[in-house]
Order: sequence, then C-alpha cells, then structure tokens
Amino acid sequence: MVVVLREDASAEERQAVEDVLANAGIVSAAVRWAEHDLYILEAALSSSLQQSLVALPAVERVVAVKLPYVLASRELHPEKSLVRVGHAVFGAAEPVLIAGPCSVEGEKQIIEAAEAAAAAGAHVLRGGAFKPRTSPYSFQGLGLDGVRMLAEAGARVGLPVVTEVMEPTMAEVVAEHADMLQVGSRNMQNFPLLRAVGRTGRPIMLKRGFASTLDEWLLAAEYILAEGNPHVVLCERGIRGFDTHTRNVLDLACVPLLGRLTHLPIIVDPSHATGHRDLVLPMGVAAIAAGADGLMVEMHPHPDAALSDAAQTIDAATLRALATQAHSVRAALLPANTRDESVTSPTVPLQPATRVG
Ligand code: PEP
Ligand code: MN
Repeated sequence: MVVVLREDASAEERQAVEDVLANAGIVSAAVRWAEHDLYILEAALSSSLQQSLVALPAVERVVAVKLPYVLASRELHPEKSLVRVGHAVFGAAEPVLIAGPCSVEGEKQIIEAAEAAAAAGAHVLRGGAFKPRTSPYSFQGLGLDGVRMLAEAGARVGLPVVTEVMEPTMAEVVAEHADMLQVGSRNMQNFPLLRAVGRTGRPIMLKRGFASTLDEWLLAAEYILAEGNPHVVLCERGIRGFDTHTRNVLDLACVPLLGRLTHLPIIVDPSHATGHRDLVLPMGVAAIAAGADGLMVEMHPHPDAALSDAAQTIDAATLRALATQAHSVRAALLPANTRDESVTSPTVPLQPATRVG
C-alpha cells in the first residue's frame, strides 16, 4: 500500500497522517519519489483505515500495489523510465552500447580502448578499477587512480563512463568522477552499498546476482529507488548453471518478463554471461532481439593480453560488428514490437510461473 501525499501538505497535515498510521500500529517508510512524498506500507490497510487516510488533507491518494517492489513496479509507475547517462538514453528506441575493458590497466590501455569504443559506435565507456575478484591474488584493479584514468579517457573521446563501486564509503568519491555507478553481481544484495549508491543520485547499473531471483533483483533495485534515486538500469549477466561450457547461463527470458514487471530499463552483458568471446556477438544480438535496452560488453585493444577476463573479451572489430548488427535487429523489430507496445497492462502484473513436476 502506498499513501501519496499532496505536494503542498503542511508539516502539521503530514503529522496527522503519521499519527493515524502509528495509532493503527502500521509500520511505514517515508520515501521521496517523482516529486511526491510517499509512505510505503508493507501491510494491507482495512477499508475503514483507507477511508480515514483519504479524508486527511495531506493525502492525495492511497494506491494498492500488490507487488513488493513498489517503486520499481509498473503498478505505481506504468510508463517506461528513461535513464540518461551523458547523451545515452537507456529505455529509448536506440539500444545503448557500453564497451570497454574488464579492468582499467593503465593510461595507454584505457585511452586505446576508449578510442576503439567511440569509433565502433559505443555510447558509454566501461572499465573496472575496484575489481571483485574471486581470488585475492588476482589483479585487484587500480582503485581511484583507475577511476580517474577512465574518466579522462572518456572525456577525451566524448563518452560518459561507468565503473563499479564495491564499498559504501567509496560511493561518493567514485560518483565525483563517473557518470554511472555499477553494482556488481556479487554485491547485488549488499544493502548498505545499495543505499549508498542510491544517495549519490548518479545513474546506477544494478547487475543481477548470479544466484538471484527476479524478485530479489527488483527488491535490490527498490533499495536504490527508496533513496529517492530513480535512475536505475538493470543488467542481466547470467546466472549459475551446471554446465561448464559457459561461465553462466544467460537468462534472456528475463528481458521481456521484466518489461512487464518493471518500468526500469534492462540491458544484457553477454561477456560475463557466456565467458567466451565467440559467444558475445551472437548472444548480444539475441538480447536485442529479446527487447533489451542495451548491451554491456568487454572489449580490449589487445584481448589476449587483458589482465582480467581475457577469454570473454572481444576486439574492436567484433565490437563494430556487434554495434551494426544490434542496430539492424532493433530496426527490424520497430515499430511493430517495441518494448513498450509489447507490455501488458500494468494493472495486471504477470503472475509467477507455477512449477510443474
Ligand atoms: C564487471 O562487469 O566488471 C563484473 C565484475 O561483472 P559481474 O559483477 O557481472 O561479475
Ligand atoms: Mn570482467
């Protein structure tokens, strides 16, 4: 349940709402969203309580939202959200292409990568500087120096940049240099981190936890949104499977499915999803065909020499082919099958599938 307050409600009028909720023993969270103050309640309200709330001068409306991710759901916010990062717009007609190395390795490497990404038609430059490596002995990234190098390389070629933040205390300082902050798969449910990146107000790319359900992912997005930051892009990057031929299993069904559940843009990372550079182009194109709002791929000027994730890193020529093919596939889908037109009514959210057998 959501209680939406009038913009012009006075402090006393707001207090009256809080008093009614407190007297009824209802726990609520106050959230600022789309220029409105809201109280979000986990509990359903009795119709008499709803009536007493609606009668208060501060209350504009009371909305029954059935899904637990209130702000992320299409129930409260039916229109598709657009998330702007520099000139790139996630959720618009053109798919956004993010490209760059797994890790920033030095000035020369990131500048070469930035030039190749820009020449290939990428819209955003990526590069990790705080790296979540499985082994403590693997290359850990260049830290803040790497973030600065990334920002300089992006500025040089006119591309905005995205980089990962791993610690809540680093969110602010990374946000001073980066246009978009990435929360990685391993940190999808690091709730203090989600709150901290949310508070920066920067656009956030939230990668799916490799063993997370869609509901857990959307509730993780909700943490960022609940900080009053509506600029969230979801990134599917594969989930754990049992087959060792690919690094992960790319869950492309989640793309149209999420389009029904949430207004947030969704992009796909075929690099981490597959772990093989030969699979990045076909699966990237498939993701666009499934309706993804963009792609993030790992590209290096000398892929075999990459200090991290070399096996899944493509070269500049493959990136150019991907950009061309992604564009053609999207053009072939329009206008008959744009994401928004294919979305079912937001008032009838898709029910979770029932498992058989
Ligand atoms: C990355 O994109 O650099 C990364 C580490 O990916 P993930 O969090 O999906 O493993
Ligand atoms: Mn990587």
